[in-house]
Amino acid sequence: MPYLDHAASTPPRPEALAALDRWLRADDGVVGNASSAHAAGRRARAAVEEAREVVAERLGAAPHDIVFTSGGTEADNLALKGLAWAAAEQGRRHLVVSAVEHPAVRDAAAWLCDAQGFEVTWVQPQSDGRVDPEAVLAAVRPDTAVVSVMAANNELGAVNDVAAIGAALADGPAALHTDAVQAFKTLPLDVAAMRCDALALSAHKFGGPHGVGVAHLRRGVPIVPLSHGGGQDRGVRSGTFAAALDAACGAAVAASDDAREELAPRLRGMTDRMAKVLLDLDGVRRNGPSDPTHRLASHLHLSIDGVDGEALTFALDRAGVQASAGAACSSGANKASHVLDAVGIDGDAALRLSVGWTTTDDEVERALDVITDVIADLRAVGGGGVV
Ligand code: PLP
Repeated sequence: MPYLDHAASTPPRPEALAALDRWLRADDGVVGNASSAHAAGRRARAAVEEAREVVAERLGAAPHDIVFTSGGTEADNLALKGLAWAAAEQGRRHLVVSAVEHPAVRDAAAWLCDAQGFEVTWVQPQSDGRVDPEAVLAAVRPDTAVVSVMAANNELGAVNDVAAIGAALADGPAALHTDAVQAFKTLPLDVAAMRCDALALSAHKFGGPHGVGVAHLRRGVPIVPLSHGGGQDRGVRSGTFAAALDAACGAAVAASDDAREELAPRLRGMTDRMAKVLLDLDGVRRNGPSDPTHRLASHLHLSIDGVDGEALTFALDRAGVQASAGAACSSGANKASHVLDAVGIDGDAALRLSVGWTTTDDEVERALDVITDVIADLRAVGGGGVV
């Protein structure tokens, strides 16, 4: 079955599986607690520290700035809330957040506003889903605590110029967070070049397992932890280190980073091919940036006239093509997308096709045949029937 939902989750890479296997089993069957002083503990700790160093090197960061989390959602929450709470202690309670952020950022910011008395300025995107750095900077005030703009949007694949925002904010008090969960697979990221204070990654988006991610949190930028406990990771994230998951995340970061130069053009070729065939159909339009340098190589987002979105993904699944109506990575509920709302797209079906390291040309061709047939069949029965 063609799988064209790599933006929701991409299969784990062999390097990540090997690291997981090694650190779940261990040679003598004992994976110690990485905070224990004995040999088994020291071994587990070495695995965590090695992974931390790998991630830091690949992001242009210092190892002590890397904190492993349970995924992108926790990394985003930690950055948003942690940086906001710390800034509030200095009297700054204003947030600048793009209106197209993933719910992990958007809902965290909304909660800070509704439940904690912060104020949020939502920056609307341009019609192609990108966020204008000038509009972001215009919203920044002396009391701004955190600015959050994603490196690339999960639905439209629109890529933002985070470095332009980082350069302008570098000397001010506001902290800059970027959710790079979708970007890392195909775009090289360098936190020093972006001048961001916080960055979020999620391993299952680039070949690691579910349940682990990365928060890059620049040391020296005050942060209040989300959880309290054993004080691991300089007290920013308490809890026993997940040595196997962290090691697998590190292995996936290295493997994905090594593969990027070959992978990105290959994925671009596939999304271009899909666009060529599907945009040729009547009533099919591309959403998101038209300039390829402004959109992720892995994403193709379409609006399809005359069919119902839910019926489309259901019919595609029945016909063997796994894809997403929008951002499948939230709840599975087929509710209206805040991203499409923000860029003024509504009504007909939206379809996100996203490819990854396991996608083959043959898989793409089979999927294209099915998608073309399913659209025709649905239209033949008035758009919403079961075909
Ligand atoms: N941010 C973006 C842009 C995403 O696409 C996702 C996907 O789910 C997340 C955050 C959440 O990451 P995780 O699934 O690791 O919690």
